Amino acid sequence: MKKIKEYSILIMSLCIIVFFTECKSNSSPGEIVFIENGKIKLGFEKETGKFISFSDVGHSYEFIERNMVKGLPWEVNFHSSSAGSGSNSGIFPTKFSFSKSNELTLNLEWEGFEGMIELKVKAEVSLDPDKALSYWSIKAEGIKGNLIKSIDFPRIQGIKNLGDEELAIPTWMGSLVKNPRESLAASNAKVKRWSWSYPGSLSMQLIALYNPNLTGFYASCNDSLSFAKDFAVTLDTLNTLEYKMINYPTFDSTLTSYHSSYEAIIGSFKGDWITAAELYREWGTKQKWCDNSRLKNELSPSWLDSTALWIWNRGESDNVLTPAVELKQKLGLPVNVFWHWWHHCSYDDYFPEYFPPREGRKSFQNAVESAQEEGVRCIVYMNSIQWGDSSGSWKAEGAQPYSVKDINGKMRSHAYNIFTGNSLTNMCMATEFWKNKYSSLCDSAVNVYQTNGVYMDQACLNRMCFDKSHGHKIGGGNYWVENFGNLTQQIRATVSDKTRPILAGEGSGENWIPYLDAFLTLPVSRERYAGVTNTETIPFFQAVYHEYALTYGSYSSLVTPPYDELWPKEYAPKETEQLLDADFNKQFLMEQARAFVWGMQPTIANYHSFLNSERAEEIDYLLDIAKLRYQALKYLLYGEFCRSPQTDYPEEEIKISKLSIYAGRKGKSVTTFNKKVSLLYSGTWKAKDNSVGIALASISDDNLPVHFSINSEDYKLSGKGKIYITTTNGKELLGSYSNGLINVEISLQPRGLCIVEIVPSV
Ligand SMILES: [Zn+2]
Repeated sequence: MKKIKEYSILIMSLCIIVFFTECKSNSSPGEIVFIENGKIKLGFEKETGKFISFSDVGHSYEFIERNMVKGLPWEVNFHSSSAGSGSNSGIFPTKFSFSKSNELTLNLEWEGFEGMIELKVKAEVSLDPDKALSYWSIKAEGIKGNLIKSIDFPRIQGIKNLGDEELAIPTWMGSLVKNPRESLAASNAKVKRWSWSYPGSLSMQLIALYNPNLTGFYASCNDSLSFAKDFAVTLDTLNTLEYKMINYPTFDSTLTSYHSSYEAIIGSFKGDWITAAELYREWGTKQKWCDNSRLKNELSPSWLDSTALWIWNRGESDNVLTPAVELKQKLGLPVNVFWHWWHHCSYDDYFPEYFPPREGRKSFQNAVESAQEEGVRCIVYMNSIQWGDSSGSWKAEGAQPYSVKDINGKMRSHAYNIFTGNSLTNMCMATEFWKNKYSSLCDSAVNVYQTNGVYMDQACLNRMCFDKSHGHKIGGGNYWVENFGNLTQQIRATVSDKTRPILAGEGSGENWIPYLDAFLTLPVSRERYAGVTNTETIPFFQAVYHEYALTYGSYSSLVTPPYDELWPKEYAPKETEQLLDADFNKQFLMEQARAFVWGMQPTIANYHSFLNSERAEEIDYLLDIAKLRYQALKYLLYGEFCRSPQTDYPEEEIKISKLSIYAGRKGKSVTTFNKKVSLLYSGTWKAKDNSVGIALASISDDNLPVHFSINSEDYKLSGKGKIYITTTNGKELLGSYSNGLINVEISLQPRGLCIVEIVPSV
């Protein structure tokens, strides 16, 4: 996994930022024009057009601290052609006007800009007739002759503290930050801001800030075409937040106007991140990315759906395929392989010099073939955008012209490999050169080496490229995802279907649902790479798109990190892939429990057969999960996410290990934390046949009583039916229910697993 780094909005030094902070209309100060739909009420200052009131009518809650609104609900940031001046110059609209085209729609217009007399900024804000949502669009006219870096809209200032706040962000899988203002305040940065790029680091277009007992601020967007944009929250000195969506028009001074092809959405909701996910799902699942889902339309080879367990191992085939074949025999269900470090070059160094495999062509081919004879398939790592700029092929193949260029014409290069210090450079997805190169690599992987597909590292991200020679729109636009789609089409047209290959990718993102067969969602094991912070992983992406996108993957491991044998010998740790301290066993159980109840295909990293005896309890737990899950695929692979019933979730403090393959140089590849975690995990899924499955996983050493009561209406089930329980010992009738009241009382054994099924009578 590579961390996505987005610097673009922080690099201000070469831009002239134009602030529009004041303007005048014929109204008196303090007068407000409102629109209201009975659910929410929006108010703009008549004199200036500032957005100074947003209230949740039902809960009589005002989100905005009026005195803190200093600016207009938008901001245009021009790029200075005289780069390097670094100065700020303000130009101001001298005139503001508004009109209502109907009761629910307000049109706002700013004009008379000093120094830019042609410029007009128009915004339309309309309310949903039925929901607590509003839709915002913007148009900037008279921009010819200027280079626009970004247009921030909407820009909502003065968002008050809701108290006991939670911030839910779909960072690939999803993050939940408790008391986000505290975390922002603790930041050392001058501007206390978090921003996330979409598509890419955000898998969906929403953020939700809420107090579950009060109300919530819902910010979203209805772009179905994958245009580049950022979402940002900034904390000011008086503890109010600014929210903004940052739009990127094409970087072209000949454009006369910019009009977003989508609307931003601002609304309120009562509930939590699951409520926000449900709200978003209503829109998201109606978009073409779901119509064209590979999972839903059964476009992926059936072996992928049938995968009971993934092994993610590294190195030559005897360290990868051999243990997988052994584990498949032990499990008795399909085990497949996610394979790193098989390639010729050392990792993060001389990509894309992947071929021939490091163990040699014949050895690799024989190993792949004999694993396939045993029913074990493999997908191989190849980075989807990176080229090592110290490699021989970089020069020999003339890669440089086809690399991504930033707004200043510089390449995007980063040295991930701390041992060699060699950097990798982003290639532009919109160039035929890179698509041809990458699809020829896939051709080799599948057609020559007979693998079962490719894992495309760094797949779910978006880069803005400013290279005019590439033929795509400059800077902002939606060419990246579109060209990723073209790349996958080209690969699928190139590779033979003989081994029924798949394309998997890093991260998750709604935009990639039609293109990738499987999404690697590592945040399920977040603590392994991020340690313990106030951010918790939530299955946000799965809550919206589970039945449309297959997710798998985990850093979950019982051994110390491996070290690429092709890296410098002097930095190699003494022991690699040796038993981790038993103190960390429960972390492994927790990760596997989460993946199970959150509807992912289970994965173990760095598996070796000595773990069967050395870590028998943990391996048995994983195999039991794989077996039980296999009996409940209609829920855990194909089901729709539902809220789990309320029950007691006892907690325990456990030891957490943070691991890094790149810590070797400093001599310490494992860092220890303590964390209070739940001993019981639950995930609830609705199948197409309308039955509901509740997956429960205990990681407790003791028996755990589980009791919950639910109302059948909450899951849109009929008022009577039967309740079953499935464990690895089989399925049995637990009881029946009537009058819509479902009571479940069971006791889970130590590290017990089960699926409680509610099957309504027809
Ligand atoms: Zn480009």
